[in-house]
Amino acid sequence: MVNQTETAKLSLVGKHSHAVAFTTPDVDVNQSEAIINRLPAILQTTLELDDLVQLFQDELKKVVPYDSFHYQHRDVLCDINTAKRSHHNCTYRLEMNAVWLGELTLTRGKKFSDKDTKLVEDFLCKLVYPLRNCLLYRQAQRAALQDKLTGLNNRAAFDNSLTREVDLAQRQHTPLSLVVLDIDHFKTVNDSYGHSAGDLALRTLADSIIETLRRSDIAFRYGGEEFTLVLSNTDKASAHLVAERIRVAASQLSCNDGARNFGFTVSLGVSELEQGEHVTTFFDRVDQALFQAKKLGRNNTVSA
Ligand code: GH3
Ligand code: MG
Ligand code: MG
Repeated sequence: MVNQTETAKLSLVGKHSHAVAFTTPDVDVNQSEAIINRLPAILQTTLELDDLVQLFQDELKKVVPYDSFHYQHRDVLCDINTAKRSHHNCTYRLEMNAVWLGELTLTRGKKFSDKDTKLVEDFLCKLVYPLRNCLLYRQAQRAALQDKLTGLNNRAAFDNSLTREVDLAQRQHTPLSLVVLDIDHFKTVNDSYGHSAGDLALRTLADSIIETLRRSDIAFRYGGEEFTLVLSNTDKASAHLVAERIRVAASQLSCNDGARNFGFTVSLGVSELEQGEHVTTFFDRVDQALFQAKKLGRNNTVSA
């Protein structure tokens, strides 16, 4: 079956031992074939990875009963687990033209027979091409939301995230804070040490911000030498503390232009979303707080 698709490589790992015949009484061979034959048409209806995996599961369940279904692809942060794992499992590592397509595991209380695994493999042969397309699509989507220089989320990701988090906070009546950060006198850094050293400073700061944040906090490169932090479930006082931690950590960073060490400082504006406040007004308020921090002489955090 594996040979059906010239370029697809399905390796079966940890296959159950001593398979016992396990029949699927309500689906006969003709029905299984019919389901497998129409599978490509069904799988081609989406480019969203989660939807594809769901469609695949729905169809597979009709011919091979299982208790849990797991699909994992670390590079695209995909980890789908439908239920707790049962005792017996069959696992497939999916690869095509040396491109990693993820790992799939089915589990159930009864062992998988050879007939079952043959059916799963027939299904997988139909999955690999649509799966590759969905993975490429997801990678392209992720790249479009990522800042190349720092690896942080970019401005487009920020716009999506802030709108979503403001909606959520308003609906659930939970606090939401926003921090806007701007490097002080960054033009002078570029002028004194060169553009590459400026780039290094941006990357060093981004790493430092990530180290300082909680897992639930999201950092963005808003543009140029400006960064934003969306802090869900965080009130203004706590956000101020986070901003201060970042400010102090930034002031202690040291970069090197190849010959000289240099440092820099940052200024930050902080505020908490008010009830019923529009996302644009919220952002403008925080930007005003940043402006105040600059006016105070820079290397400052101002909460508004
Ligand atoms: P202020 O304290 O008022 O913020 O002063 P500033 O010099 O930081 O602000 P200004 O807006 O005058 O200058 C920002 C500088 O950031 C100018 C621009 O060349 C630099 N910059 C923006 N993006 C990048 C980048 O990707 N790499 C480097 N090296 N520099 C950048
Ligand atoms: Mg600026
Ligand atoms: Mg600046």
